Amino acid sequence: MLGYPIAGADGDVRPGHRRFNIVWYLRAEAEKELKRLMTDETGRHYPLGIPPGLIQAEVVAELRAAAHSNLALQFCKMVELVETPFFQSVADMDVPSMIAGRVSLLGDAPFVVRPHCGMGVTKAAGNAVLLADLLAAFPGDIDHALRVYDEERCRYGQYLTAHSRRLGSQMKQSYTSDEERREAEYYRRPATSNSEAAMIMPPATYCQGAGINSTGHRIPSATPSATSTRAISGGGAMALEESLFDLPMGNVPMLWR
Ligand SMILES: Cc1cc2nc3c(=O)[nH]c(=O)nc-3n(C[C@H](O)[C@H](O)[C@H](O)COP(=O)(O)OP(=O)(O)OC[C@H]3O[C@@H](n4cnc5c(N)ncnc54)[C@H](O)[C@@H]3O)c2cc1C
Repeated sequence: MLGYPIAGADGDVRPGHRRFNIVWYLRAEAEKELKRLMTDETGRHYPLGIPPGLIQAEVVAELRAAAHSNLALQFCKMVELVETPFFQSVADMDVPSMIAGRVSLLGDAPFVVRPHCGMGVTKAAGNAVLLADLLAAFPGDIDHALRVYDEERCRYGQYLTAHSRRLGSQMKQSYTSDEERREAEYYRRPATSNSEAAMIMPPATYCQGAGINSTGHRIPSATPSATSTRAISGGGAMALEESLFDLPMGNVPMLWR
């Protein structure tokens, strides 16, 4: 569970005029439980997400009861204050390439990463900065600029997706092996989540804003440019091929307002 103030009406950020968001991550078994959560009172199922207001009264009552049993008083009160709670199921997506001819993808379009990394905005901004840098560096060879962009940012996106799957494994309900269970226990430890959630140290060449040499490749030792949004460092770097977990889509529903 987390909570944070956001701007109020018309972007008002004055104390007393802001709103407060709460987000509660809950587990649900994908096949049965998630289906029930995404089915309205009339029995209609919304596999891509149930619209706000259509969540069954019984589900909302269960949510409030769970808040009373599990949450600190302050958060419990906030759950009570939410008249129409709604939720999204958390899923992820990745692609083998971010370009097709002269079309390039960026931000969430190629890589939707589970929230554990907290890197969605950094990822989108990093894509935009590098794409702009490369197009400026190679005005006469757009295809080359796009290829380099794809090489750099696709690996980075795949890295983020794999890392967020590892972090998300701690919420898994069942395990297929002892190794999988051990990994989940490792990621469940507060020390691990403190050091690895929202903190990622990708391999140095993935950091956006480093220098670009004449072939369009990164110079890892170069000083990041003024516009760089270098990825936050601090966590342990992990190899891409260490993608150990493959959670079923929608395994982890997220309630937020
Ligand atoms: C609840 C929630 C909490 C999050 N919290 C964080 C966080 O704390 N930190 C973080 O880094 N990331 C967070 N993220 C992820 C982050 O918001 C995304 O990774 C990021 O916004 C992706 O940027 P984007 O520009 O690719 O896409 P978006 O920000 O989704 O922008 C896409 C835009 O395209 C518009 N659009 C869609 N279809 C059309 C159309 N047909 N024509 C014209 N416009 C269209 C949309 O209205 C939207 O404005 C959160 C996401 C969610 C849902």
